[in-house]
Amino acid sequence: MNLVQDKVVLVTGASRGIGKAIATQFAKAGAHVAFTYLSSVEKGQALEKELSSFGIKAKGYQSDASQYAESEALVEAVLADFQTIDILINNAGITKDGLLMRMSEEQWDDVIRVNLKSVFNLTKAVIKPMMKAKSGSIINLTSIVGIKGNAGQANYSASKAGIIGFTKSVALELGSRNIRCNSIAPGFIETEMTGELNEATVEEWKKAIPLKRGGEANEVANVCLFLASDLSSYVTGQTIQVDGGLLT
Ligand code: NAP
Repeated sequence: MNLVQDKVVLVTGASRGIGKAIATQFAKAGAHVAFTYLSSVEKGQALEKELSSFGIKAKGYQSDASQYAESEALVEAVLADFQTIDILINNAGITKDGLLMRMSEEQWDDVIRVNLKSVFNLTKAVIKPMMKAKSGSIINLTSIVGIKGNAGQANYSASKAGIIGFTKSVALELGSRNIRCNSIAPGFIETEMTGELNEATVEEWKKAIPLKRGGEANEVANVCLFLASDLSSYVTGQTIQVDGGLLT
């Protein structure tokens, strides 16, 4: 089913993990894909080739989503290359974990800047063209940790909780312009980000998940496709958990 045929999607942080799965699923579903990466230049170039093989237009941009001016320049470049942006997926994110007692100001600032300010930067930059087009779908990657909190992740959970509030506010502000804004809260998804966790922690997580396994990046990408397409035309301001039932 070509749910997003000929739509233009911009995905941040698509060189690996969930972002890469999103970019790939959208290309397979007929969308033209603009995507970003920060340091993984080779992976970004390889992905551009891979996506183009699906017969759609694909282009990767090296761009730091946490920088306001750089994000504005990115959106201008994407508009010049693709003419429009129908769907924005704010996926780029990092962790810098540690108990609050030991958390440095730098760990706090970095995570808030990359995870939360990036969502403001990119959303601010796309809303003008979306308002002009009188349509758009914005999807933000939050986390169940943004709903529930997590010891050792005060910075990360604060950034992800901020995304949920931002998502609802954007949905309220821009609903009348036919722009929808939703977020996705993954639980434990097997990517390089969770690959950093030790085996015992991973086993504990898995035991607590009703579906008894970690999620795959594709399973998050599928929900992105739903939120991007007309299948969700009456859904806005929501946070959809993709967590195997973990937070239930
Ligand atoms: P990942 O494997 O660590 O990949 C992160 C991606 O973000 C990479 O492509 C990275 O690019 C990019 N990135 C990092 N900083 C950036 C910046 N300043 N500007 C642009 N791109 C940047 O992470 P993931 O597991 O796929 O997670 C993707 C999203 O889902 C994140 O927002 C994460 O918080 C959220 N999430 C993940 C899980 C999970 O279990 N994995 C659970 C809940 C939520 P480079 O390769 O160039 O560095």
